[in-house]
Amino acid sequence: MSFDKFGKMSYVSETKVADFVKYLEEGKIMATRCIRCGKLYFPPRADCPDDLSVDMTWQELSGRCKLLTYTTAHFAPVGFKDDLPYTLALAQCEEGVKVFALFSKDLNENEIHIGMDLRLTPLPLPNGRITYELKKV
Ligand SMILES: [Zn+2]
Repeated sequence: MSFDKFGKMSYVSETKVADFVKYLEEGKIMATRCIRCGKLYFPPRADCPDDLSVDMTWQELSGRCKLLTYTTAHFAPVGFKDDLPYTLALAQCEEGVKVFALFSKDLNENEIHIGMDLRLTPLPLPNGRITYELKKV
């Protein structure tokens, strides 16, 4: 199990945060928290860009968040053209971390409003990969 399986396309293989995928498969959305300064990171980071600490700990997110802003894309980079149009959202999780993720396809564009309650949930993909998305509560 490794980070290779995350998302539609492979970007990075970060062995230190490889458990992120395992947690997603267990239905858990995990962030990492810097032990030194307490900053929370999602997606999880193996080290803290703020104080360069490598002492990070896993923290499960409740998934409860509120919509801050969103945009619907009608153009896409290679590998994402089949998904058009898709809606990208920035949401504020109750733990304080901001999450950038795709909206669930079952969400109607006319239902979307700033401040609405959302849930960040794991999303298994047909090709055996896994990612996460924002769903209406
Ligand atoms: Zn830190």
